[in-house]
Amino acid sequence: MDKKRMNGLHHVTAISGPPQANVDFFTKIMDQRLVKKTVNFDDPGTYHLYYGNHTADPGTILTFFPFADAGPGRAGPGMASAYAYALGQKDFDDWMGRMALDGLDFDGPEERFGQRVVKIADPDGAKVELVEVDGTGGPMLDGFHSVTLQLDDLGPTQRLLTDVFGYEEVGHESKAGEERLRLAVPGDMREDLRGTVVDLMRSDTPSIGRQGAGSIHHVAFRALNDEDQLDWRERLLSVGMQVTPVIDRQYFNAIYFREPGGVLFEIATDPPGFTRDEELAHLGEDLKLPAQYEASRARIEQILPPITV
Ligand code: ZN
Repeated sequence: MDKKRMNGLHHVTAISGPPQANVDFFTKIMDQRLVKKTVNFDDPGTYHLYYGNHTADPGTILTFFPFADAGPGRAGPGMASAYAYALGQKDFDDWMGRMALDGLDFDGPEERFGQRVVKIADPDGAKVELVEVDGTGGPMLDGFHSVTLQLDDLGPTQRLLTDVFGYEEVGHESKAGEERLRLAVPGDMREDLRGTVVDLMRSDTPSIGRQGAGSIHHVAFRALNDEDQLDWRERLLSVGMQVTPVIDRQYFNAIYFREPGGVLFEIATDPPGFTRDEELAHLGEDLKLPAQYEASRARIEQILPPITV
């Protein structure tokens, strides 16, 4: 089979505690736009909140299932343990100053592969990473740099990402009881690709992960269209992955599989996108329900806690 490259990340989905604190933090502190307010399609009594850049581009989308009574989650082997936003150097310095002024709870900066990284605690205590990258950007966080996958054994996941997804190893470092292998989409990339880095991390400290508030549920890579997604599906099946059929997620089509290290992966399509049921100027304003739940709208609106942006 000819070699093919993944198009970076589409979105990252995490679990949070009560929704209002989550909305306040990501819209007011992290400057993200709430681009869609909908429900968990498998559990319509729970919100599914989507944040992104102003135009809700793939690679900028962070989503949460907020549970008012979620127990605390914790990353461990077989889970994504962090996501990181990219920031240009000057913007990184500006953010450092701003975090100090605002009295935000943050760690760092530390250095990772020669780049500065700071970690800001979200309301559930999960760490949002900011990575300094070359070049300039806007002051708004405009998409992901990377995700970190915590694994007991880096090999099987590395092989999947390099042999099937077309990533290349670009760095390896060990410090503070952690081994980190950096993989990236190689070569000349489309300019609109974001989140083209995946770090595979192994910790010397034994731990058991637990899904809950503050943990990452899954990581979604990006297919440019349905045909691209079906091609990825064939490639994954051909190496023995158990991949779901295509599932309609209203704003994209999705396939899911558990990669060999245990992390839940998704491949999501760019189309139809978040303007499917709201104009760009009004993204995130109304509660949007898929057709199968419209008949229950009144009841769903009664169950969901009100949130204001
Ligand atoms: Zn997803």
